[in-house]
Amino acid sequence: MDPNNMQMRMQEIQQSESFSDVLGKILSGKAGYKPVIEKRQEILMCKMCMTPLLIQKQKFCHECGKKMEYSAG
Ligand SMILES: [Zn+2]
Repeated sequence: MDPNNMQMRMQEIQQSESFSDVLGKILSGKAGYKPVIEKRQEILMCKMCMTPLLIQKQKFCHECGKKMEYSAG
């Protein structure tokens, strides 16, 4: 695991959060308003590199190739 790569991932996540802020500002005309995004399904992430998976219960991480493990049910 490359720590620099991890840092980049964190930046990507922060950027996506600020995008949400901008979207809220556009929708409401107010800063800091968070748009309500309907959560249809839980977003699963790779435990190794924290990459959000493209599809539910993907067998392998498309970023690092780590085999995904899911608890039964
Ligand atoms: Zn991964």
